[in-house]
Amino acid sequence: MKEIVEVAVGLPVFKTFHYRIPEKMKGSLQVGMRVLVPFKGRKVTGFAINLLDQSPKEIEEKLLEVEDLLDEVPLIDPQMLRLCRWTADYYLYPLGEVIKTGLPPGLHLKSELILTLTQQGMEYLAQGGSEAIQQKIFREIERCGKVSLKRMLKIFPGEVTKSQLFSWMRKGLLNIHGAIEGKEIKPKFERVVKYRGGEAVRPISRKQAEVLKWMEEKGEVSYSELGKTFKSPSKAIRSLEENGLISISDREVCRDLSLRPELKSYPKPELSSDQEKILIEILKGIHSKQFSPFLIHGVTASGKTEIYLRAIEEVLTQGKEAIVLVPEISLTPQLLSRFKDRFGENLALLHSGLGKGERYDQWRKIWKGGVKIAVGARSAIFAPFKNVGIIIVDEEHDPSYKQEEKLRYHARDLAVVRAKQDGATLLLGSATPSLESFYNAENGKFHLLSLPERIEGKPLPRVEVVDMKKEGGLLSEKMRRALQKSIEEKKQSLLFLNRRGFANFILCPDCGLTFKCPNCSVTLTYHLRDRSLQCHYCDYRVPAPGDCPKCEGHRLRGMGIGTERLEEELGTLFPGARVGRMDRDTTTRRRSHQQILKRLETGKIDILVGTQMIVKGHDFPNVTFVGVVSADTSLHFPDFRASERTFQLLTQVAGRAGRGAAFGEVVIQTFSPDHYSILKAKDHDFIGFYREEVEFRRALEYPPFSRLINFRLVGNSERRTKAIAEEMGRIAQSLLRKRYQKGMEILGPSTAPFAKMRGKFRWQMLAKGKSVPLLHQFAKELAIRLEDGTKGTGVNLDIDVDPVFIL
Ligand SMILES: [Zn+2]
Ligand SMILES: [Zn+2]
Repeated sequence: MKEIVEVAVGLPVFKTFHYRIPEKMKGSLQVGMRVLVPFKGRKVTGFAINLLDQSPKEIEEKLLEVEDLLDEVPLIDPQMLRLCRWTADYYLYPLGEVIKTGLPPGLHLKSELILTLTQQGMEYLAQGGSEAIQQKIFREIERCGKVSLKRMLKIFPGEVTKSQLFSWMRKGLLNIHGAIEGKEIKPKFERVVKYRGGEAVRPISRKQAEVLKWMEEKGEVSYSELGKTFKSPSKAIRSLEENGLISISDREVCRDLSLRPELKSYPKPELSSDQEKILIEILKGIHSKQFSPFLIHGVTASGKTEIYLRAIEEVLTQGKEAIVLVPEISLTPQLLSRFKDRFGENLALLHSGLGKGERYDQWRKIWKGGVKIAVGARSAIFAPFKNVGIIIVDEEHDPSYKQEEKLRYHARDLAVVRAKQDGATLLLGSATPSLESFYNAENGKFHLLSLPERIEGKPLPRVEVVDMKKEGGLLSEKMRRALQKSIEEKKQSLLFLNRRGFANFILCPDCGLTFKCPNCSVTLTYHLRDRSLQCHYCDYRVPAPGDCPKCEGHRLRGMGIGTERLEEELGTLFPGARVGRMDRDTTTRRRSHQQILKRLETGKIDILVGTQMIVKGHDFPNVTFVGVVSADTSLHFPDFRASERTFQLLTQVAGRAGRGAAFGEVVIQTFSPDHYSILKAKDHDFIGFYREEVEFRRALEYPPFSRLINFRLVGNSERRTKAIAEEMGRIAQSLLRKRYQKGMEILGPSTAPFAKMRGKFRWQMLAKGKSVPLLHQFAKELAIRLEDGTKGTGVNLDIDVDPVFIL
């Protein structure tokens, strides 16, 4: 019998902990189950990751006991645990938190400190005690009966501290105790009634006979359906059950999906000869039943989706499962409805747009083996399948595969790892593969497959570049003429501008004042609709002033344009044209994405203005013109991937034009008409772009020629953050001298490109090197040495491993 369990708690601590297994759990506690364990005076959910005969030698203190066992069967199997361990190790993140990331929300119980008033406290309150704040707090507790300590500190920020509350406890005025808060999500059941037939033992009433006759036709129905057909049937049902004519039981059901794929039929197309060729290669990989990684480089509208569907069909015939990752599920309704049409109910959806219960049910369907295909955004890479045959990453270059908070994993990279661990086929698909993936393909790590032509021989659109240095105004002559032509021919246009709002910022020409966000180092964007100034990073907003608050001048003026202004200008330029807009401001409501796309699809919009939301893989045959209002926004972003990102955006957005019968045209406006990102996008020349970009990366030793780890310090106090950053720099240099001279370079520490974000001050330091193990070793040592210095300072170290996967 195992005596000890090793537990990874779902908290930001790197260590794992050991607990004694109480007698009653011996034999039932297994690896992969959730346990409730005492931890620093609280009870927290942890995951059993190992069972031992005795406690490890190095642990001397008396071990605590597991408090409760939360599962009857393991939630995670050994394969999933292996993937989580890899992830925790590679991204330098606590294992318990990694496991938590892979599970649906609502499975994580945690105890909270709960405040209640004692008798003495109530009397004190009734007497109208002393301090005002104490009165306020006691009244709040009295009103609610009980309040969690965490909530109390939130309601009265700065007015009350934890130690104050505890001092009132010591005076006997308050009770503070730990209790499990929040509700665990459970499967949903419904009552079903089943027809059994046979002879009635006792005579039955007329109503019962009616119900029984109806039941005989139906066989099995839910209780709620019965209730809809018959008025208060419960008595009749009970008698029939007692009579042995029907049976009543509970059946687990799925909560309805709030975001459902549209049901439409798509005839299965004939494959082109190119498609045929690459499918043969992929099938070879699938039949080998070994890790087979492919990169499909296919121009826009070259028929990648059909390849995915056929490959999955093959995997299903082997009795295996498929994971399909898509960048943002709400933006890809067409892809979803094609999957639904081909595979029907054999599909689970995993993404954050679903409600908690819905997500749990979808996850559970996979976990119980009820479906064979999971489609979802990045977290779907943790889909709990046991026998994965294929993993597909559509638009593998898309930045949304990288999680930018907490566990900073890259879903494409994890797809490679999981496919390798499970011996599965891997399909990465894109019209503009990431530099890293194409480099891997060139070096033989991925098998490169190309779809160089659009299906049915449709030509790629013609692209023209307009030099905005020679133009006045917002839209060039060429752009205006193209839009006019499209309207006259009853075609549709897309206009891409990656900035929302009306004006980029407001400037007073008299004194030069601009309006900055008090929480972030950025200027505020002017929004016309509610005449407000907004921060696009922290959502801070204030009413826009009429006059300059500094010099009282009357000439405040909006500089730079956003989608809101573009929409308005188009209305003036093309009266009568129906202009739509798709950006974060117009898509806050649920389903609003789909509604806008539907209006475009049904011809109710002539020109759709939008941010990068319109870049994703939509397929609208009547869109013949695409305009890029400013190609410069992404080009000047302070990141070494700016050129790559610009090329990708331009190629993808241009690819929306001319997917139907008519020829497509694209106009790109820019102040940098000679930049290779723009020139190569104009020629649809991915390989040409790749060659130039890869040389630039090689010269500066950026990925894929090196690996990067970014150490970010984020803190509330500017002074303390800076001091710890300097300390980090000193530790890094001393580590470098001692052990890491060869093969590593340190850049910084310096303030981050946005030095202040959401009220927090940010510093960063970059470690660059060729060897991942060396960089990891360095990062771990640095993190440990810095731990004491940051404790209690409100400054956090955030380690970001650059998304580059090496096989
Ligand atoms: Zn002024
Ligand atoms: Zn802000």
